[in-house]
Amino acid sequence: MGISSELLQKYATLIVRTGANVQPGQVVQLAVSVEQHDFAALITEECYKAGAKKVNVDWTSDTQSRLHYLYADQETLSAVLPWEEAKMKQMTEDLPCRIFIASEDPDAMNGIDPEKLSAVMQRRASVMKPYRNAIEGKHQWVIAAYPSLKWAQKCFPEAENPVDLLWDAILKTVRVQAENDPVEAWKAHTAFIEEKAAWLNTQGFASLRYHSENGTDFTVDLIPGARWEGAGAVNSVNGAFYIPNMPTEEIFTSPMAGRCEGTLVAVKPLSWNSQLIEDFSITFRNGRAVSCAAAKGQELLEKMIHMDDGAAMLGEVALVPKESPVNQCGFLFYETLFDENACCHCALGMGFKEVLPGGDDLTMEQAGKQGINDSIIHVDFMVGADDLSIDGIRPDGTAVPVFRNGTWA
Ligand code: ZN
Repeated sequence: MGISSELLQKYATLIVRTGANVQPGQVVQLAVSVEQHDFAALITEECYKAGAKKVNVDWTSDTQSRLHYLYADQETLSAVLPWEEAKMKQMTEDLPCRIFIASEDPDAMNGIDPEKLSAVMQRRASVMKPYRNAIEGKHQWVIAAYPSLKWAQKCFPEAENPVDLLWDAILKTVRVQAENDPVEAWKAHTAFIEEKAAWLNTQGFASLRYHSENGTDFTVDLIPGARWEGAGAVNSVNGAFYIPNMPTEEIFTSPMAGRCEGTLVAVKPLSWNSQLIEDFSITFRNGRAVSCAAAKGQELLEKMIHMDDGAAMLGEVALVPKESPVNQCGFLFYETLFDENACCHCALGMGFKEVLPGGDDLTMEQAGKQGINDSIIHVDFMVGADDLSIDGIRPDGTAVPVFRNGTWA
C-alpha cells in the first residue's frame, strides 16, 4: 500500500512549481522532518530543476523537540543564539523561497508544562520578530503537509492503515489525483477564489455581523480600503505569484484592531502549541477578548490571549464555505493548515499589513496606525457553524447577505 511514486512526484511538483513557484537563481530554505527524508530529496531535486541556486534543509524532529522540553531548562531553550540570529539575518539578505512540510504529531508535546512552552515561544518569537517582519511580503513561501504515522494515528485511531487514509484526504484537499493535472486544477481553483474576493472588494463593507444558533453573536469593523485576499500572493520584490497554503479555501482580510463586540463560539477544537483547546467561546468588548470559556484547555486559552498586548485582538477574519473539501473529509486534522480551511474562522493576534493599499512597504508600526493588529501570535479558530449567517454592513447601515447556512449567500 501507500502512495504511488507517480502521485508523490505530482505532489512535489505542485508544491515547488505552483506553491512556492521557485524562480531561477533563488535560494530555497526547506523545513522538513527527518522522517520524511525521501520526500525532502524529491522536493530538493524539483527545486533544482526549477532553477534553484541552492536548497538548504532545516531538519525537524518531534521526538527531539519533546526531549528538549523534557530535559533542558527554560532559560536555555528561550535563548536565541548568535548563530541562529545570524541565520535569520542572512535570510533578510537572501530572501529565500521557504518551503515548510508539516507532519507533526499533534500530541508531540502532551504533558509538557504549557507555561514552559509558551514562555519559550514568547521569548524566541520576540527576538526573531524583527527579522520576520523584514522579509514579510518579500519572499515566496508555502506550507504543505506529509502524513507521519503518529499524525495519521491521531486522526484515525481505529484504522488499520491510518497513513493511507490521511494521504487520501490530503491529496483530495490539494487536488492531486491520478487522472488530473494538479497545476491546471489549481488555476481553476485560484480563479474561483479570486472572483469571490473581487466581489467582496467592490462591496466596501464597513463591518461584518455574525450570527448562529450556537451562541455566536458578533460584529467586527473592517478597515476602509483594506482588501480581501485569497489563494495566492505576490512577492513584492520579484513579482512571483505563490500559494502560501496548500490546501487553501479561504478568503480573508485583517479587520480593524480593537473594534469588535460580542461572542464567537468555536465549532472545532483548536490545537495550539501541540495541545488541544476544546468546546470554547471568546467574548470581546471594545475590540478585546475579555473572557473565554473552554471545556478543555481553559488555562492554555487564557495564556494564549495574554501572550502580549495584541494577542487579545483580532488579526484576521476569513470566509470558507462549508462545502470545502477539507470539511467534506469530515474529520479533524489537528493541524491548522487543514482545519482553518474547513470553515469560516477568525484569528487572534498578528494581522496582515499586505491587505492595506501599499501595505508591503509599511512597517508594522505604520500598518498598526491604520488598524492592523500586531502580536507575536496568530492563532486561527473556527466559527463556521452549519447555520452561520454573515451580513456585510455598508457604511449607510444597509445589510447585504454574504453567508447563509454556512456558505456563500
Ligand atoms: Zn486564515
